[in-house]
Amino acid sequence: MQFRGKKSKSWKKLKLHARNKRCHICSYPLRKTAVFIWDIKSQQANQIKCINCLTMYDCEFEITNVGIVREVAYSWD
Ligand SMILES: [Zn+2]
Repeated sequence: MQFRGKKSKSWKKLKLHARNKRCHICSYPLRKTAVFIWDIKSQQANQIKCINCLTMYDCEFEITNVGIVREVAYSWD
């Protein structure tokens, strides 16, 4: 995979989030669980995904897809 959009704004933001934030859902530090999602249409990474719970975030760190909560399944009850 080529990272042509490497220096794009959204890529930089995503990288910052991946380095500094914790996943909202499973609260793992994203530097351990984040993978970058490559968007073919715009030719850049525009989302990150937490591989622990599969939650996806966009470059503003808004959740775009809620993943599976494994370890804290009943915390919202
Ligand atoms: Zn997570």
